[in-house]
Amino acid sequence: MTELHNLTEDHAARRRAAKVMPNGVYGHQSAISLLEGFPQFIQRTEGCRVWDLDGNEYVDFLCGYGIVLLGYHHPLVDAAIEHQMRLADCSNGPGLVMVELAELLVETVDHADWAIFAKNGTDATTTCVTIARSGTGRRKVLVAEGAYHGSAPWCTPRMNGVVDEDRAHLIKFRYNDTASFHAAVEAAGTDMAAVIVSPFRHDARHDQELVDPDFARAVRRACDDKDAALILDDVRCGFRIAHGGSWEPIGVKPDLSAWSKAIANGQPLAAVLGNERFREGATKIFVTGSFWFSAVPMAAAIATIHALRDEGALQKIIAAGDRLRTGLAAQASSYGLTINQTGPSQMPLLTFAGDVDLMRADLWARTTAMNGAYLHPWHNWFMMAAHTADDVDRALLATDAGFAAVRDKFGAD
Ligand code: PMP
Repeated sequence: MTELHNLTEDHAARRRAAKVMPNGVYGHQSAISLLEGFPQFIQRTEGCRVWDLDGNEYVDFLCGYGIVLLGYHHPLVDAAIEHQMRLADCSNGPGLVMVELAELLVETVDHADWAIFAKNGTDATTTCVTIARSGTGRRKVLVAEGAYHGSAPWCTPRMNGVVDEDRAHLIKFRYNDTASFHAAVEAAGTDMAAVIVSPFRHDARHDQELVDPDFARAVRRACDDKDAALILDDVRCGFRIAHGGSWEPIGVKPDLSAWSKAIANGQPLAAVLGNERFREGATKIFVTGSFWFSAVPMAAAIATIHALRDEGALQKIIAAGDRLRTGLAAQASSYGLTINQTGPSQMPLLTFAGDVDLMRADLWARTTAMNGAYLHPWHNWFMMAAHTADDVDRALLATDAGFAAVRDKFGAD
């Protein structure tokens, strides 16, 4: 580690954390998985920059794992938060903002006729599955192999603490593989409640794969034939790909969609959106949570959705992603390294050719972090509207150091 990148305070905080939390910080934010060079704790955020406990500054390309869309502390979102905070947040009933946000989402997202709100993506995907079963009276749910839909027992990637019964009615298929999908439909027989899919294949530790529109149409047709629910898990992509849902550009409408992450620009909120076919199924279930009605995140979501349109945020996000990709491609080629850049411009990922054990990716991301840009070695990145050309160029200085380190250790291809 360079002297510029001192993580003394961060490491002291990790030692304290390990004493009072299992494994220290857990889940996707455990920096253990990111190895040396990445800070565990973040002290301050502004625009597209984050600062750790030791005062190191990073251009952030993870956006809190996707929750920040416009930028940290966007003035209009912050103003909406402050205004609502003074009125009411959590109480005996929700604020009127709940209805206003449902109206705005129904107006914005084409397939949606109603909305239910929750806190996390897992709440939203799980609620979608429950509504699909309630609405169809059937049990089987088709899920793509390796897809992440949350951390509840039915979908967590780790089986510790999970029993077979939690997974009893899941049938797997391969993403974008219509034949394997049809085999799963066949296996479900007359008991098919739903298919749950992400807008594109964004599994960690894999190159990303855009959806084949023919595959998406085949899924839609099968759900129509079987009168089952097509659930789009838009938790990670929602509002980053398109205003009306991430399959809007390919013209395939889900029956139910799960949202969280970016919808309130960093405030804790999730949503399930659904069509008339599944309204009755939704009225019959009982889902709730002590904090699911909090008004502040809902006010933040309304401000976020307006700003997304009014500020042409998506175009900015795409332009920043394209600039980053162009710069990375030129750098890799100048070092004689073969890389693969996958996914949409808004959610890029870079992998190195032949890097099966991800050692190149680890070294690259770690060195890049130590030089001031926060990019993940094997989870897709997220672009935000606050990334200016100057921010991207600043980050490219850091990635250049990352490529140099990879070339020095592993040689050119
Ligand atoms: N679905 C997808 C596609 C996700 O990316 C995630 C979170 N990474 C989830 C569901 C679960 O969301 P949460 O962590 O908020 O429960």
